[in-house]
Amino acid sequence: MSNFNWCHGPSCHKSHTQDRIRGVKGSKVLRTRKVAQTEWNSGERHNMYSYFCSNGCYNDYANTHINEIVALHPRTEALETPIDVVKEQATDYFGRPYVNTKIVSVDNNGG
Ligand SMILES: [Zn+2]
Repeated sequence: MSNFNWCHGPSCHKSHTQDRIRGVKGSKVLRTRKVAQTEWNSGERHNMYSYFCSNGCYNDYANTHINEIVALHPRTEALETPIDVVKEQATDYFGRPYVNTKIVSVDNNGG
């Protein structure tokens, strides 16, 4: 059982960092980083850091494959969250009155 994934960043192997250098003198390469699977990025916590060594590699991947990613889960209409808008009288530091507008979540599950 392997306990790592290769970073999915399309340019991970092109970044000039010492930890990516592999090979012997005369045939050195920059290699894609391994992403260790730990308690912080596997099992219940499986997340983007299970597949990417950095935010940069994640952004490179998302920007390279954005059309395919959006095609998998398209948003064809707006989502809405029910709220109540509550106006409250308040006073500022100098005692001057103003109206404070609060957005309050509405629980429409009957709870
Ligand atoms: Zn990477």
